[in-house]
Amino acid sequence: MKKLLACLLTIVSAMLLASCQPSNEAKNPRVKLASLKKMIEHKFERFPVLEYHHIKRPEARWSRTPENFRNDLQWLYDHNYYPVNLKDVLTGFEGLPEGKVPVVLTFDDSPANQYRYLEDGTLDPECAVGIIKAFHEKHSDDWPMRATFFILIRTNDKNKNAFGHPERLKQLVDWGMEIGGHCYSHERLSEISTEAARYTLARASKAIEELSGQRPVSMATPMGLYPKDESVFSGKYQSIAYDYKLVCEVAGGFQPVPWSKNFNPLHINRIQAIDSEWQRFFYNNSKAPHKLRN
Ligand SMILES: [Zn+2]
Repeated sequence: MKKLLACLLTIVSAMLLASCQPSNEAKNPRVKLASLKKMIEHKFERFPVLEYHHIKRPEARWSRTPENFRNDLQWLYDHNYYPVNLKDVLTGFEGLPEGKVPVVLTFDDSPANQYRYLEDGTLDPECAVGIIKAFHEKHSDDWPMRATFFILIRTNDKNKNAFGHPERLKQLVDWGMEIGGHCYSHERLSEISTEAARYTLARASKAIEELSGQRPVSMATPMGLYPKDESVFSGKYQSIAYDYKLVCEVAGGFQPVPWSKNFNPLHINRIQAIDSEWQRFFYNNSKAPHKLRN
């Protein structure tokens, strides 16, 4: 019976893949085969990309308390999830342990409460990075330090300019985390010209590369606003080449896996990490990805 099911799954998968929109990847038969293998191997079709802003008290629309953030990590850990960076989507989650479901923790706007040191030079145990690091140290084998920070470069609030300490971005990368873009100054991409959109995207990419040592491959659109011309996410502005391969929305629910026909790299869905969304998507959801199919 199991063999028959596996065989059926293979046929259905092949049919699904054949019906995929032609993309550069789909044209490559090796990628197709790898996708097919993943479809059969992994028992999830969707995964969560969680969206955080402030980590501070009290709990509010755009703030998660340190306690609730710790509880979120514990809940994910207890329910079969494994943290990855958003860019791991590009490798089809290479290295994901068997039986685990990937989760991406994303943080927008780079306020200081996401990454801060205390006066004595120690990492603030109440900031997002402090909480992630402590959780990793407690569960070093199955909770690596992975998270994706969509940072700002220059705004009127200097505590939001790369956490107020741009020189510290390299440390996040050294710990295994990812730095992504969020435009240079939080520009609304739907309201500016194509030229201006390319300018802010290129400038932000260049600054992140200089500060972190890595050119960003992912970003989140400020306020989820998209430009009319979505080709602006990759290319060149004057002499600056940039390439945001993965672009996040502010909402949308669970994200289809990269080997799904519904995968659109320029519209990655996210779930806002607030109580109502946790209830809706995780606690009360019989179709959540952690309830793996047999
Ligand atoms: Zn933002």
